[in-house]
Amino acid sequence: MVHVITERCCNEASCVAVCPVDCIHPRPDEPEYLTAEMLYIDPQACIDCGACVAACPVDAIVADFEDGLPKTFDQFGELNARYYAEGATPPASPLTTRGGKVATSLRVAVVGSGPAAQYAASELLDAGDVSVDMFERLPVPGGLLRYGVAPDHEGTKGVQATFARMRRRPNFRMFLNVEVGVDITAEQLAERYHAVIYAVGARSDRRLGIPGEDLEGSHSATDFVSWYNGHPDFADRSFDLSGERAVVVGNGNVALDVARILAAEPDTLAKTDIADHALEALRSSNIREIVVIGRRGPAEAAFTTPELIDLAAHDDFDVVVDVDSIAAFRALQAEDSLSLSDYKVNVLDQIAAKAAGRDRRVVLKFLASPEEIVGAERVEGVRLSRNELTGDGHSIQPAASGDSEVLDARLVLRAVGYRSDAVEGVPFDAQRGVVPNEDGRVIDPDTGEVVTGAYVAGWIRRGPTGGIGVNKHSALETIDMLLSDHAAGRLRAPVVDAADLAQLLPGHIDAAGARAIEESETTAGAAQARPRVKIVDTRRMLELARPGGSA
Ligand code: NAP
Repeated sequence: MVHVITERCCNEASCVAVCPVDCIHPRPDEPEYLTAEMLYIDPQACIDCGACVAACPVDAIVADFEDGLPKTFDQFGELNARYYAEGATPPASPLTTRGGKVATSLRVAVVGSGPAAQYAASELLDAGDVSVDMFERLPVPGGLLRYGVAPDHEGTKGVQATFARMRRRPNFRMFLNVEVGVDITAEQLAERYHAVIYAVGARSDRRLGIPGEDLEGSHSATDFVSWYNGHPDFADRSFDLSGERAVVVGNGNVALDVARILAAEPDTLAKTDIADHALEALRSSNIREIVVIGRRGPAEAAFTTPELIDLAAHDDFDVVVDVDSIAAFRALQAEDSLSLSDYKVNVLDQIAAKAAGRDRRVVLKFLASPEEIVGAERVEGVRLSRNELTGDGHSIQPAASGDSEVLDARLVLRAVGYRSDAVEGVPFDAQRGVVPNEDGRVIDPDTGEVVTGAYVAGWIRRGPTGGIGVNKHSALETIDMLLSDHAAGRLRAPVVDAADLAQLLPGHIDAAGARAIEESETTAGAAQARPRVKIVDTRRMLELARPGGSA
């Protein structure tokens, strides 16, 4: 028996750290790590000790018994083995242990409360005499963990339990419902802490830049995600679900998330923590077909193979695959290819053979670029220019074919990536959508010098790529820089006592307040056999968070 990593893998790599035979790759210190869709266990090297199973925060690792994996996981056995067939690089050097304890006390502010922020705080608290204050604009912590991960992927949120434990530690405080740049300035923070880490993520969306993008009925997928996940700023939005077809532009995991939520049987979503307003709207949805548009070929789709396998495992809707694009790819593909992206096409082939005539369907269409969102007053469809594959063997590229078509739809969701916003008082590279930095140290773009005491982690540091666990390693690198700057005397001591923050920020919610909100949500959820019933009204959250707030 060996072990196999499955679709829940969050790339956090806790399994790598405990594996005694180093059979899980890519490791965070290997170059492939940042772009890996998931981690893989080498079936030849695994000794079946199970240490990785216990370390995984999201229960992604299963045992492959001699008579094969359970049917739901059998593709993952092949996928894990395929990574090594492709020639994974053997470990270049032993895993480096993170060393060094803080000798003199250190006070750090962390701005943001998503995965990168919480991993950073956790690592700092482990470093010795460090106290951490976390600042978050919303009344509850979590960032994309709460408002980005799809409600039917509760397992992906497994790391929440680790973060909840971290938030109870004595040197940790939270200032929720506080917007840095509005309620408190970056300068005021810099005066009160040795260092400030900005881990504010990416809350806006990229634009397509085509005519019709702002027509009624055309939305960014990030808004739709925030709406169904109960983000307070999006609770009042409405999405027209009256048409039979929706088009999702983009081919990443967000595109698959929104397509799956639109296609899913509402009764299955009712068991999740989806916002009640979204569930109600989806119950009366007329949408029967969701067409997901990729501008490149099937092997270059940005969605990951694990998420594709998960999509096709649903029995409440069909997944229909654009077989012409697959045939075009097969005609050019190298015969001997064992690449992981070619394996993605194998999975698409298997899906194509399965479609069963259900009431709702997700159509995966490739080689089509959006040219215009058409409609007089509102969205009526999307004009697509058709692409074709050129090249051969291991170098296959899309090119415009000159043909175009219009796909009728009343709803268009643009899922072409997230984008970070600037924080007032912090340098920002608007072109790249990141804070200019070197290994997590913020750089002043005018002077090219390091901004003393300012750091970044997560998507605001490197751009909106990678799943939750990758942010752990981004945060670790940043903390390494911060601790070495502290040890070298490069940080300035605080000049103002942060004890004044309670007076300065009278509307803030602390950790106890956040727990009161969470308890209210989970209690309501338990009564309905759901993980939680999300509160979407900020005023209600503030009421619950007040000492002695009503239950
Ligand atoms: P993404 O992975 O960067 O995908 C963006 C997609 O938009 C790509 O298919 C891209 O095509 C397409 N695109 C960009 N500009 C376009 C244009 N002008 N016209 C047509 N298509 C265009 O972004 P994402 O889906 O927002 O995901 C962000 C990150 O979060 C990813 O790393 C993702 O894996 C992660 N995530 C993970 C999960 C999960 O694990 N369950 C869920 C959600 C998100 P090209 O490839 O051709 O550029």
